[in-house]
Amino acid sequence: MVYENTIPNMEINGKTSITGIFGYPIEHTFSPVMHNAAFSDLRLNYCYIPFLVSPDHLKGAVGSIRALNMRGVNITIPHKQSVMPLLDTVKEEAAFIGAVNTVVNSNGKLVGDNTDGKGFMKSLEENGIAVDGKDVLIHGAGGASRAVSYYLCKKAKNVSIYGRSPEKAERLVDDLKIIYSNVSPARSISDTKGYDIIVNATPLGMKSDDPLPFDTSLFRSGQTVCDLIYTKTRFIEEAAEKGCTVLDGTGMLLWQGALSFELWTGKQPDISVMRNALQKARQRY
Ligand code: NAP
Repeated sequence: MVYENTIPNMEINGKTSITGIFGYPIEHTFSPVMHNAAFSDLRLNYCYIPFLVSPDHLKGAVGSIRALNMRGVNITIPHKQSVMPLLDTVKEEAAFIGAVNTVVNSNGKLVGDNTDGKGFMKSLEENGIAVDGKDVLIHGAGGASRAVSYYLCKKAKNVSIYGRSPEKAERLVDDLKIIYSNVSPARSISDTKGYDIIVNATPLGMKSDDPLPFDTSLFRSGQTVCDLIYTKTRFIEEAAEKGCTVLDGTGMLLWQGALSFELWTGKQPDISVMRNALQKARQRY
């Protein structure tokens, strides 16, 4: 099997389907490594290219998906919201979440989707973490929180959402309440004892001097603690030391990619190929 980004099995020719990612900045993305390894593994005549697209050029770049007959793209920061009005259709979940991370070119019609929330659920599932009947607390009310809460509410007993800007958390809860009755705003994050699953959906922990998103001294074994950040954070390390089951954002990153891959190719990638490619790339960069 091939895990390197050199793509030895890949030949670019007149029939190659082009996919990629639009972002600004883009140089830190691991998506090309994961996708190209999976295309290569399945001998699919596809390739995946990173594109540095500034906000001024987003409209032109989206037009190029049609003009160049690309199969589709991933969309990342800062375009996940601003891309939406430029598409022909946006799937229901992506419309609810208010963000698109995947575009599929379906015979010239551009369809926007969002695989982040489903990716998170797949990551829980592959780690044997059940959500059914559980009490969940989420810190953060931005795009990632909207994506995961949409799916967590489908299964959990109760979902509580805390935002440092309370009006943003309340807006998210109000949107969720249109579909679900088991969601409410959390007034504080200091009392975590009663929750089964605790999720950090803020960027707290991306910088080494960030404060923790929750007070870990109250954590106990039997709780599951998730961080959507896909590096090992101090938060995750401290939760593990308290005996919690822990999950970082790597699985969500992998599975959102695998689900985009499936939307473009109709085939399921070998997740272990994507995981190995990601791990190797992380060691290199
Ligand atoms: P976002 O839309 O900017 O939302 C961030 C949320 O965190 C907002 O509620 C924001 O509050 C809050 N926040 C920001 N700084 C904070 C601070 N210092 N203290 C308390 N709250 C703070 O960002 P996002 O797209 O949701 O991303 C959130 C995290 O998820 C990022 O670390 C990102 O890397 C990660 N993520 C991971 C994956 C994956 O595949 N693993 C996918 C998507 C995102 P305000 O609204 O008040 O600013």
